[in-house]
Amino acid sequence: MDMKALAMYAEQANCRVTTGISMATATTFRIGGPADLLIDIPHAEAAAAVLRFCKAENIPWLWLGNGSNLLVGDRGIRGAVLRWDTRRSAPQLVSENTITAEAGLSLQRLCLFARDNALAGLEFAYGIPGTVGGAVYMNAGAYGGQMADVLVSATCLTAQGEIVHVPDEDLRLDYRHSALMETGAIVAAVTLRLQPGDKEAIAARMKELIAKRQEKQPLEYPSAGSFFKRPTGYFAGALVEQSGLKGYRVGGAQVSEKHAGFVINRENATAADVRRLCADVQEKVRTLHGVSLEPEVQFVGEF
Ligand SMILES: Cc1cc2nc3c(=O)[nH]c(=O)nc-3n(C[C@H](O)[C@H](O)[C@H](O)COP(=O)(O)OP(=O)(O)OC[C@H]3O[C@@H](n4cnc5c(N)ncnc54)[C@H](O)[C@@H]3O)c2cc1C
Repeated sequence: MDMKALAMYAEQANCRVTTGISMATATTFRIGGPADLLIDIPHAEAAAAVLRFCKAENIPWLWLGNGSNLLVGDRGIRGAVLRWDTRRSAPQLVSENTITAEAGLSLQRLCLFARDNALAGLEFAYGIPGTVGGAVYMNAGAYGGQMADVLVSATCLTAQGEIVHVPDEDLRLDYRHSALMETGAIVAAVTLRLQPGDKEAIAARMKELIAKRQEKQPLEYPSAGSFFKRPTGYFAGALVEQSGLKGYRVGGAQVSEKHAGFVINRENATAADVRRLCADVQEKVRTLHGVSLEPEVQFVGEF
């Protein structure tokens, strides 16, 4: 793996390159060892070039959004971590109720833009700490809404570095699932359709949902949100709580005492702590309730 050549190539393509950055600083869990190379990429053409280079040189890569749904291993990530450098880019209103946005934009900013333009439909997403691209990949959702409800299409990069237009039906968004998980394509930009609404009412709903999160979720500790997917017919948090695991701790990782669906980094947790805690919870819930809990959080890198 010629990482030096990749770093030089990416810099020539106007990317920002950082070596050996701790993934604990790039994820909301605040856990994870170093990434060989982190490349912040300004636009789709540069991303396409970097992906083609990685393919030609057999360099593994991981696409990073805001790192809010990831558990990175303690030994970090070999190869390249790629990320959009478009967190603060401006969304565009392209018709009365249609918005386009770059995938690196924070979901928070997108929601504020929709509110400021009196467009309803994204209130559910206010408070989900991801990027637009990560939200599409995960079909992020909350409080009865999900990205599938508002997505019209996406501009994507294939793993071969081609830029393609993908309509929403081909993205096959489902509960915490999208076709991107199979194709490996990267979202570069999205088009969303919202409904004309009342600015004050939209703002009030967003405020209400943030208050709910603050009341119910352990936002005072680093985490990756709900740790397990919702098993059909159950709530993961309720199963964990009924298994007597609220507050259960392994090293610095803990099942939140406030919300048993969250695993928190209580105190200098390692990825090994979280992984062990996850296995213990899965085993106890399976034994007591006969239900298999599947992590919603993605485990990446070397453990
Ligand atoms: C406090 C807290 C509350 C949360 N609440 C919710 C909630 O209510 N609902 C919910 O659904 N989630 C919630 N989450 C989880 C998380 O915020 C979402 O899953 C979010 O969509 C992840 O986006 P991200 O940009 O951080 O992606 P990351 O965590 O960086 O990546 C997640 C996956 O998406 C892929 N990805 C990222 N960007 C792209 C891209 N541009 N193209 C293709 N793939 C990409 C990555 O490769 C990775 O596989 C919460 C997390 C926290 C910490």
